[in-house]
Amino acid sequence: MQGLVTKSTGSWYQVQTPDGERYNCRIKGIFRTKGIRTTNPIAVGDVVDFEIEPDQETGVISHLHPRKNYIIRKSVNLSKQGHILAANLDQALLIVTLASPRTSLGFIDRFLVTAEAYDIPAMLVFNKLDLFSGEGLEILADYKAIYENVGYPCFEVSATKGTNINHVQDTLKDKVTLLSGHSGVGKSSLINALLPQLDLRTNQLSEWSDKGTHTTTFAEMFELPQGGFIIDTPGIRELGIIDIEQNELGRFFPEMRARMQDCRFNNCRHINEPGCAVLDALENEEIELSRYESYLSIYNGNDTRA
Ligand code: GDP
Ligand code: ZN
Repeated sequence: MQGLVTKSTGSWYQVQTPDGERYNCRIKGIFRTKGIRTTNPIAVGDVVDFEIEPDQETGVISHLHPRKNYIIRKSVNLSKQGHILAANLDQALLIVTLASPRTSLGFIDRFLVTAEAYDIPAMLVFNKLDLFSGEGLEILADYKAIYENVGYPCFEVSATKGTNINHVQDTLKDKVTLLSGHSGVGKSSLINALLPQLDLRTNQLSEWSDKGTHTTTFAEMFELPQGGFIIDTPGIRELGIIDIEQNELGRFFPEMRARMQDCRFNNCRHINEPGCAVLDALENEEIELSRYESYLSIYNGNDTRA
């Protein structure tokens, strides 16, 4: 039987069949991920084969299908070891807000760079729209334009009032989407707006608490009424961490990527080189200063994760 891993505690995995049947499964055998030691062999979003046990309720996972991608959180001390947060993502959605707690542009840019490095399409949801009026709405539109101009779809919503949630629903349809965001931006409210039948706060842990101890650090997948899934990674604000070489960083800024073949030197760092097409575009205000500042900040390792 083939299924999708929709939840895990590290020792148990909830697997959903194409018919929507769910089984609590264990693992049999050894599952390895190339190039890295993982603390969890199987993650939410994985497609697996499993056998149903005689009790007809539990199962045993016997095979992991190849992943199209996965995001990972590296161990702090051991760079060759990590925890797979989620697999087989179609897209990643970052929830931000210019209201309190305001999301910094640096945080947004680092998220987008990571998504580019993973080759996962990203989009932004600007939440708490109901708190803006007049000049506030114009500022919001300016911020949105920064990101739309470099190709990231953006939405202005109010999760609590339900404004523009239908536009978000349209882009989530039939896709597997990872939701991320700083605590307080309204991620739970947005999930509740997308899944009215589920109360996130009460849904968590209860039925699983006896089956594992590290539940909160594991992702969970929710099926959308209109088709598709969203993945929530409680307590994780980012898209995992990825090692990016200084000399490849520019490629992860689409507006720099589009221009760097015109730089005079093919090893241009876009910092102070003569004939740099990126610096020319910055001068002409074709590249946003805040985006370029994020480039410099990441380049110089000032990764403060504000
Ligand atoms: P999370 O930490 O990202 O999951 O954020 P929550 O969904 O718990 O929301 C944090 C706070 O922001 C709560 O007090 C929510 O009521 C509030 N909030 C969330 N979305 C909106 C919104 O669209 N408008 C307004 N005014 N408040 C919101
Ligand atoms: Zn350059």
